[in-house]
Amino acid sequence: MKKYFKLLIITIISVMALYSCKLKQEVDKSNPFFSEFNTPFNVPPFEKIMAKHYMPAFEKGMADGRKEIEKIVKNKEEPTFANTIEALDRCDDLFITVRDVFYGQAEANTNDSLQAIEMEISPKISEYEDEKKLNPELFKRIKHVYEKRADSNLTPEQLFILENLYKEYVRLGANLSKEDQESLKKINQRLSVLTVQYDQNVLAETNNYKLFVGEDDLKGLPESLVASAADIAKAARQEGKWAFTTQRPSIFPFIQYSPDKELRHEIFNAYINRGNNGNEYDNNKILAEIISLRAERAKLLGYKSHSDIVLEPRMAKEPENVFNLLNSLWEKAIPVAKNEVVEMQKIIDREKGNFKLEPSDWWYYAEKLRKQKYDLDEEELKPYFKLDNVRDGAFTLANKLFGMTFSPMNDVPLPHPDAQAFEVKKADGSHLGVLYMDFFARASKRQGAWCLTYRTHKMDADQKEITPVVTNVFNFSPPAGNKPVLLTMDEVSTIFHEFGHALDMLNNKNSYNTTFVAWDFVELPSQLMEHWVTEPEM
Ligand SMILES: [Zn+2]
Repeated sequence: MKKYFKLLIITIISVMALYSCKLKQEVDKSNPFFSEFNTPFNVPPFEKIMAKHYMPAFEKGMADGRKEIEKIVKNKEEPTFANTIEALDRCDDLFITVRDVFYGQAEANTNDSLQAIEMEISPKISEYEDEKKLNPELFKRIKHVYEKRADSNLTPEQLFILENLYKEYVRLGANLSKEDQESLKKINQRLSVLTVQYDQNVLAETNNYKLFVGEDDLKGLPESLVASAADIAKAARQEGKWAFTTQRPSIFPFIQYSPDKELRHEIFNAYINRGNNGNEYDNNKILAEIISLRAERAKLLGYKSHSDIVLEPRMAKEPENVFNLLNSLWEKAIPVAKNEVVEMQKIIDREKGNFKLEPSDWWYYAEKLRKQKYDLDEEELKPYFKLDNVRDGAFTLANKLFGMTFSPMNDVPLPHPDAQAFEVKKADGSHLGVLYMDFFARASKRQGAWCLTYRTHKMDADQKEITPVVTNVFNFSPPAGNKPVLLTMDEVSTIFHEFGHALDMLNNKNSYNTTFVAWDFVELPSQLMEHWVTEPEM
């Protein structure tokens, strides 16, 4: 809390400094966001960007945006796509640049300063976005362009953006009364803080937990897991012990292979109880408030539920379709799962375990069952999946399918020293974009695997092409000693999955910052790529 307050003061001082500079018509030149990046393909100069640079850049980005919106609204000419939609799209390029860099780093390479900035900036961004969405003069102009769209000679992309933008404004409250809009703004700002707090709590709980064990407790565990557990213990200054965490590459092989029921139970409970420990990182109240605010917002906007709002612009359209899909999966999956429980219980009884299968036992007995039925040991597959080979396999696939090539870049700023950078080229040899791959788990990284853009594809005001900068982030075990990193089948699929998202973003042909993606569609390219993992041709 202290740190946050200190940072707030520093921020206020730096914003004041920025404003006084502005009077002299200049900005802080040492802030990398205020000048050309001057890097290969203009990627963000990560090593030069410090925590103190973000707030002034955010503030200036939003101030610029507000000024441009004011100009759009005050424009006396008849609203057109160019003077309204396109002008709005280009009104805050600096804000978009700093936002994309900041959130990329906040997810994969965070620290106390970035976490404090995230808490401070989230409600401000929410407020800024609402100023756009709930600006009656701006909406009037958008509506005018929308109503005249049939006679405006728009390209299919422009028409797509216009229709979706109009619908989004309506969906998110443009037609509400002024009073309701004020309530909506408050709800949005509060939600923006709560959701950041929720994620930060999960990260803190993940980082704060370690299961330390002695040599006797390593029975049955794969060699690579034991080696990384020794590294984790060493880093926690408990040399000579072994430590397991609730990070996926640590907990899941542990509960899959450890014969110690108590230890499996202990780490599994730590995993499912992250944010549920009654301490300063507890998420129960936060979750309850998120749910009630979302319900309140849905009611205000005239929807039955939060899901109805979220699903409207997606392919699923409404909750009923989602439940239909889920229920049809349940109907088929539940009998199979029940049957597996019976088979696993048989193993326990045969071994005179004298207990009933619990959730924390599932992975251990599933592995035994797999061995019994198919003579398949997941661990024995790993030597075939060396990380570098899997990555190159994904590149080869993209080359065979689309002619794309991937060459390592050595002198380019990296989002984290562990990340790797590749220049991606089209089949004709021309530049397509930059791809980062950041493979290993660390305390500064949120759990899971994802793909996001440090810069999306677009055309600038002079119709010059801006190429994408994409990152694939994973949470695999870092190399133990100088042994090669070997992956499980599941991790191999994860690489191909995220790589599918990256191909989508790299091949993007959008002209504008504004894009509308049906978020349930984005999984298609990744599903297609995942499919290739088990194809004999691969
Ligand atoms: Zn995905």
